[in-house]
Amino acid sequence: MDSYDAIVIGSGFGGSMAARPLVDAGMKVLMLERGDWVNRSAEENWGPNGSIELSPFYDKSSLLHVPVGGNKPTMGLYSCVGGPSVFYGGVSFRFREADFEKNEQIEGKDAQGWPISYNDLERYYTKAEGILNISGERGVDPTEPRDSAPLPQQISPLANISHRVKSSAQKLGLNPFQLPLAINYEDTSRQTCLSCKTCDTFACAVGAKNDLATTLIPGLMSKGMTLLPNMVVTQLNTRNGRIISVDCISKITRQQHTFKAGKFILAAGSLGSAHILLSSGLQQFNPGGHVVGRYLMRHLNAIIFGIFPGIADKQGRFHKQLAILDYYFGHPKVPEFNKLGSLQQMPTPPASVVENELKGVLGKVLSPAVKLLSGLLAIVEDQPQYNNALTIDTAFPDEFGLPRVMINHTYSDRDKAAMKVLTGEAKKIMKGAGALTHYTHGIRTFSHAVGTVRMGANEKTSALDESCRFRGIDNLFVTDGSVMPTSAALNPSLTIAANALRVGELISKLN
Ligand SMILES: Cc1cc2nc3c(=O)[nH]c(=O)nc-3n(C[C@H](O)[C@H](O)[C@H](O)COP(=O)(O)OP(=O)(O)OC[C@H]3O[C@@H](n4cnc5c(N)ncnc54)[C@H](O)[C@@H]3O)c2cc1C
Ligand code: SF4
Repeated sequence: MDSYDAIVIGSGFGGSMAARPLVDAGMKVLMLERGDWVNRSAEENWGPNGSIELSPFYDKSSLLHVPVGGNKPTMGLYSCVGGPSVFYGGVSFRFREADFEKNEQIEGKDAQGWPISYNDLERYYTKAEGILNISGERGVDPTEPRDSAPLPQQISPLANISHRVKSSAQKLGLNPFQLPLAINYEDTSRQTCLSCKTCDTFACAVGAKNDLATTLIPGLMSKGMTLLPNMVVTQLNTRNGRIISVDCISKITRQQHTFKAGKFILAAGSLGSAHILLSSGLQQFNPGGHVVGRYLMRHLNAIIFGIFPGIADKQGRFHKQLAILDYYFGHPKVPEFNKLGSLQQMPTPPASVVENELKGVLGKVLSPAVKLLSGLLAIVEDQPQYNNALTIDTAFPDEFGLPRVMINHTYSDRDKAAMKVLTGEAKKIMKGAGALTHYTHGIRTFSHAVGTVRMGANEKTSALDESCRFRGIDNLFVTDGSVMPTSAALNPSLTIAANALRVGELISKLN
């Protein structure tokens, strides 16, 4: 049986960022990833079959059953080397300082906040921004947190439609600024961005998106890390209160493999990590084990599409460029709320995506009209609720023997009220940009899932301590989005990355 210093499960943000300090410290690291490498070609990545369910990397082999709260009763997940970063929108925000603090409106009367502060993460945010070569604009947004270094890349020129949205927001007294993006605009030693229309939900055919399979994982492998793709982890095995080995099944040969290590880093994503912990029965060792799988958050998201009198984006180019955070910490209309959410530009979707989402005649009829659309994505911070949970049903194992995942998720009245306010403001901005009317599209996916194995100071209400060590099992750490006690109202990847770098560094210094 092969043995390693550390085994990392999952190659997404939590896994590959945690692996980096270990590899840099000279440790022998094995990374196990259930997906494969994504080939890059315009036909495969940017064609109609490159996105979401039509992509071969949208994995339905361990279907999520979502009786309550999903957009469909069963759902898959993006699964590949680099995780969903390969298909993501690249928006790379730091959470704000206050996001780490107690907030009774969000967490309820037993609010605890995070066991770490913004200051604990600041230097790791800077590191993550360097690794992902983030571009963006500082100094405009009133909610911007403290930083110790400038962003590595400058901003990209705005599309015409973005200029119109920006000027509309400014006329309303707001402070639009350019989104921090993990996209290569300046490094001419590799392909720079072509500003195409198939970015978010598609892989980049030319490798200009700074996803993990492009920017980080190859470097870790060249420094000695072993990556085994197509390996589905099915079980963590314990002896005397420690993990001794991990079982997995090859998707290619269907053979079972077992690997040993001194330390284990679970980073299979908020849904995948809770699934593995519960199916391995590890909650029984943890005083807060009853919360594993619970407090699932995913933001309350909706796109407010402006419907323009003609083609919204005549240049036909990438225009996910602006953010507006003026209502992040509230709105004069709802003084009782001290937090609402963020607004981010959402480009005209490719007609093929709309046709697939609205299947049948409706999709065919409406997809030609998508050229009239350009929008704003509203992201509301959703409340962590005990009853929003991932559970398992062992009566229905999947093809790898993993028990069925069941997800129940409902938004609170507060979540919905906050969305109503943000939606209203987004409509005003799109109207000012020239939209005649609007269409609001609710998003009920789990693409921003966080919080199922949260860290916290209280061992009865959180499964991880502030080092993201799984209480009761000394050599098991969790480093993906599941560790978050609250979701903030910003895209999670950069915070997952920063925290994973922090925890990876702590682990690299342990004996
Ligand atoms: C279409 C889309 C667009 C997005 N856009 C943005 C954005 O612009 N900005 C942003 O911040 N966030 C964005 N997100 C969200 C972001 O991608 C996630 O928050 C982030 O990837 C989560 O990181 P993670 O480490 O928690 O898990 P993941 O990145 O999901 O990594 C988990 C990895 O573990 C693997 N895995 C799961 N189960 C097993 C198993 N049993 N055995 C072995 N491996 C396993 C998975 O295949 C995956 O590679 C987007 C997500 C999607 C789907
Ligand atoms: S917009 Fe740029 S980074 Fe995104 S897919 Fe197109 S070329 Fe790649």
